Amino acid sequence: MGFSEINNELTEKYMMRVFGRDLMLVKGRGSRVWDDKGNEYIDCVAGIAVCSTGHCHPKVVDAICSQAKELIHVSNLFRIPRQGELSKKLVEISGIKGGRAFFSNSGSESNDAAIKLAMARTGRDRLVAFREGFHGRTIGSLAATYKPAYRDPFKPLLSTCEFVDYGDLDALEKVVDENVAAVFVEPVQGEAGIILPPEGFLEGIREICDNTGALMICDEVQTGFGRTGKWFGFHHTKISPDIISMAKGIASGFPMGAIVAREGLEFSPGEHGGTYIGSPLACAASLATIGVIEDVLPDVARKGERFRQGLSDQNARILGLMIGIQVDDSCPGIQKKLREEGILVNCTSNTNIRLVPPLVITDDEIDTVTDVLNRVI
Ligand SMILES: *Cc1c(COP(=O)(O)O)cnc(C)c1O
Repeated sequence: MGFSEINNELTEKYMMRVFGRDLMLVKGRGSRVWDDKGNEYIDCVAGIAVCSTGHCHPKVVDAICSQAKELIHVSNLFRIPRQGELSKKLVEISGIKGGRAFFSNSGSESNDAAIKLAMARTGRDRLVAFREGFHGRTIGSLAATYKPAYRDPFKPLLSTCEFVDYGDLDALEKVVDENVAAVFVEPVQGEAGIILPPEGFLEGIREICDNTGALMICDEVQTGFGRTGKWFGFHHTKISPDIISMAKGIASGFPMGAIVAREGLEFSPGEHGGTYIGSPLACAASLATIGVIEDVLPDVARKGERFRQGLSDQNARILGLMIGIQVDDSCPGIQKKLREEGILVNCTSNTNIRLVPPLVITDDEIDTVTDVLNRVI
C-alpha cells in the first residue's frame, strides 16, 4: 500500500467524519496544485480565499523558515518581535484613524474578539447580523452566523442575535436600538456565494449605528487583503467601521487573524488574550504576505475584469477576484467535471459556484479557467 492509501485508511478509521472529501493535494506552486496521483490543477479555491500570494510563495516560505530558525513561540507574557511592525502595517492599510490591532488565530476568533470588545465597551449584549451571512463557528461567532444547520445543534447561543435581509436598511433600522452592541456585516457575503451589497448599504449601516451607538463591525475575513481589488471591502465606500475583523488572506495559510478597532476602542489589560496570538512565526508570515500583496494589488481589479469578460455568457457576480456563478445544473456535477479538466472550484450551494483564486493568477490561467468553465457549464 502506498502513502496515500495508508493515509486514507487511517483517516477513515480514526478521524471524526465531519469533512466529505476525496481529493488529496500534496504540492502547490503559484496558482497550481498537484494531487497524490500527480494530476495538476489550477486552484480557484486557494485554501478558501487564503492563499492569495499563491502556494508556497518564495518570500513567504523564506520568512517562515528564517523566523522558525530564530524563535517559534514564547507567548504574550513577553514582547514579540515584529508584532509592533505588523500592527502598524494593519492600521495603515486599513486606514482606520488612530486604530489599534489585536491578534487572533482564525477568522472565528477575530469575530469573537470583536464581539467581546463591542460588549465590553458598549455595555450592551445584543447583536444584529444579516441572513445568509457567515461569521464563524466558535460558540461566540456562531451567534452571528445565519445558517440553521450550523447553529441549531448548539442553541442557546451566547449572545442574542437578530437577523435581517442583506441590503434591507429599513428592516435594519427597526431592530437596531440602544440595546444593540454591534451590527456585523460582510462587505461582500462570501460563504453565501459572493453576494454584492446594494449601493449605499454600508453607508446606511454606518448611519444607523451612529444614531444608536451600536458599533459597526465589518467582517473582512474573506474580503480583506486585496481580495476585492482594494485592501479591504469597505474601501469601496467612504465610510469607516468601528472594528474590522480579518484572517484568511492575512498570512498565506499560516493560522492568523486580527482585529483593528478605531481610536478609543480597545481592551483593558487582561480583558482578552491568547497563548498563541501574534506569534513570531505568524507575524513573519503575515508581514511577508502583505509585502507580496502590495505588489500584486494594483492588478487585482483588472484580473477581475478579465474574468468578467471571459464569463460574459454566464450569470456571474464579480468584485475583484471574488467570483460567484449561478448555475441551473447541480453544482457538484459541474465541480466534478471541472476537476477532470484540471480546475478546482468550490460550491457554496447546489446552484452556485465560487471562484477565489490566488491574487497572483496569470492572464493565461484566467483564460484557461474561463474557457473550460464556459464549455462545462
Ligand atoms: C471564513 C470566514 C470566517 C471564519 O474564519 P475561520 O478562520 O474559518 O474561523 C468568518 N467570517 C467570514 C466572512 C469568513 O469568510
